[in-house]
Amino acid sequence: MSPSDLLKKPIQYITGVGPRRAEAFQRLDVETVADLLNHFPRAWQDRREPTDLSAPANGSVVVACGKVLRAESLRAGPRMVLFKAVLDARGAPVTALWFKHASRTYDVFASLKRDIVPGRELWVIGSTQPSLLGAQEIHVEEHFLADAPRAGVHVRRLVPLYGLSAGLTQRLVREAVFSVVEEAFPLLREDLPPALLRSRRLLEHPQALRAIHFPSSPEELASARGRLAYEELLVMELAWVLKRRQIKNIAKGYGYEIKKNLLAPFRQNLGFQFTGAQTRVIHEIFKDMRHTSPMTRLLQGDVGSGKTVVALSALLLAVENGFQGAFLAPTEILADQHLATLRHFLRGLPVNIALLSSRVKAKERSAILSRLYRGEIDIVVGTHALLESAVQFPRLRLAVIDEQHRFGVRQRATLRQKSRIMDLLIMTATPIPRTLALALYGDLDVSTLDELPPGKTTAKTFHAPQAEALDAVKREVAAGRQAYIVYPLIEESSLLDLRSAKKEFERLRAGPLAGLDVSLIHGAMPGNQKTRIMNAFAAGQSQVLVATPVIEVGIDVPNATVMVIQNADRFGLASLHQLRGRIGRGRLASSCFLVAAPKTPQALRRIATLVGSSDGFRIGEEDLKLRGPGEFLGTAQHGELSLAIADLVKDAPLLAAARQDAQKLLDEDARLLKPENAGLRDKLISLYQKKWGCVDLA
Ligand code: ADP
Ligand code: MG
Repeated sequence: MSPSDLLKKPIQYITGVGPRRAEAFQRLDVETVADLLNHFPRAWQDRREPTDLSAPANGSVVVACGKVLRAESLRAGPRMVLFKAVLDARGAPVTALWFKHASRTYDVFASLKRDIVPGRELWVIGSTQPSLLGAQEIHVEEHFLADAPRAGVHVRRLVPLYGLSAGLTQRLVREAVFSVVEEAFPLLREDLPPALLRSRRLLEHPQALRAIHFPSSPEELASARGRLAYEELLVMELAWVLKRRQIKNIAKGYGYEIKKNLLAPFRQNLGFQFTGAQTRVIHEIFKDMRHTSPMTRLLQGDVGSGKTVVALSALLLAVENGFQGAFLAPTEILADQHLATLRHFLRGLPVNIALLSSRVKAKERSAILSRLYRGEIDIVVGTHALLESAVQFPRLRLAVIDEQHRFGVRQRATLRQKSRIMDLLIMTATPIPRTLALALYGDLDVSTLDELPPGKTTAKTFHAPQAEALDAVKREVAAGRQAYIVYPLIEESSLLDLRSAKKEFERLRAGPLAGLDVSLIHGAMPGNQKTRIMNAFAAGQSQVLVATPVIEVGIDVPNATVMVIQNADRFGLASLHQLRGRIGRGRLASSCFLVAAPKTPQALRRIATLVGSSDGFRIGEEDLKLRGPGEFLGTAQHGELSLAIADLVKDAPLLAAARQDAQKLLDEDARLLKPENAGLRDKLISLYQKKWGCVDLA
């Protein structure tokens, strides 16, 4: 094998790996030496010196080193055995413990008994536990004899910790990486153009790759991580910028004129003036729609900021020009509500509207579809499912997608492929912090409604006991108002939670809220039942609505002035903020009660954030900080980004730099054909061409 083949060498031929372990590596997508080198550590442990054990920190991981004073194996339970060694760690005794399941057929501690004998010097790494006698006890995770030939890989240095799969240990992976990293070093290529390396003062790729596994100092680790994170973000931003430029190059082949024959009477119907923010945003949208290339715009605006009438304005512009529009909602309840809003604001206008959802019966559905096909319907309202067929409508030129905070990159790409010339307006009330917006919506233009309509009150929020919250419910109902009582439901299908919501409903009706008109709504109900209950509540026919978070988005009942959120500590910040947005919809003062006994500092901080702020963007930033991007976005969406080393929170400044550099690179070399950009071009193609179906460098 020539040395240049090393990177392609299958992992099983590395010393100490072999075919069985190669399978375990495969589960981590590591098949070759190159893959192994790109399997970055998930953390690093400082084992340069033994931990100072004079200040014990229970449960934390420590590193101890000392001469073995004595060692013995003991029985620790019916099936457990224990190996115990006492070390002299710089004069202080330390007890190291290994627990194992006993075996009838062999001695599980055979190798420990052989190696760990009095007089030998031993390193142990593990978590500390309080011991009865006040001495230090360490539950050992890794141990090394100080004079073992490979001890230097594992101790007396900063040590990498890897993501593992069954059949692998830290020791094994670490030694595998160690055994190839030096040999591979001269073969590693630089992918970034030299000018960029200089201007951003980046560590070169071979050095960075070596140091990410075995850094010689914390400083070297920081620059290696920074360099690799930057590169990862740069490639992602290149993909975004390219994609965006490619959309801008599409010619729609039709033009818009602002005629106002519908827009003017619509504004008359509204009965209110647009806010400054609405006027500005409508302007931005109209400008996009009139442009020769298709619009892909994200409209973000806090709950209650008035996104619906902005969407309607865009839809009417399409209709004024003889085209069709689709208005898509994430739930049937919301689709119903949008239909009602459209009917109300478009009363007396010559605009044909239809609802298409899974509830519409087959016969009616096909009638609507054929009317759509013939162009007799101007605006169709429905759930996302509709989009699959909606794009078949011959004159459909605008799709508005409401409340789609979980809309992924891939879904967007699919949509765009279905109709390259259609305008897309995506609306969300989950304010995405700017750094995430750059990473997630790099292909979108963003408009922001940063102003609430006048007279909108923000709900006063309290962290209160249940009794106090229910008193408020009774008080408001007595005054002719309505109330929501919400129970957490982590997943729509979670039966356990559903049962508890039902049980609570019965309990409230029989006890604390006896005499009030209480109804129950949850996600597992058939659609028409949900609609019936929701409509009855909107019409004031029931006073209290016990609900799972199906009501999270969009519901607009101005007479509802109280919300009680039970077990509020079980909701995420964004959900709590969304839920709270269901009240304070009218001019009436409203209040939100968070009933919760938060058990973790994070849960407490979530509650405190909600009580202290009603600004969706601030809450979004806080949410991101508390949960990290993975959870904030949901695994599916975050997985789409599949970043191996960059952290969208910590590396926000790097992301901004990468964005800038990506634009500049593509300004100077639109298809990355210059030789110095070849490395980036290859990476871009291999990482994004298939994944997002968007990077066309041909
Ligand atoms: P969201 O942005 O949360 O979707 P909506 O579009 O549902 O908000 O608007 C919330 C409420 O505010 C609706 O009842 C809507 O009719 C009303 N509204 C929207 N814009 C204005 C405005 N400029 N002045 C007064 N009320 C408005
Ligand atoms: Mg809305």
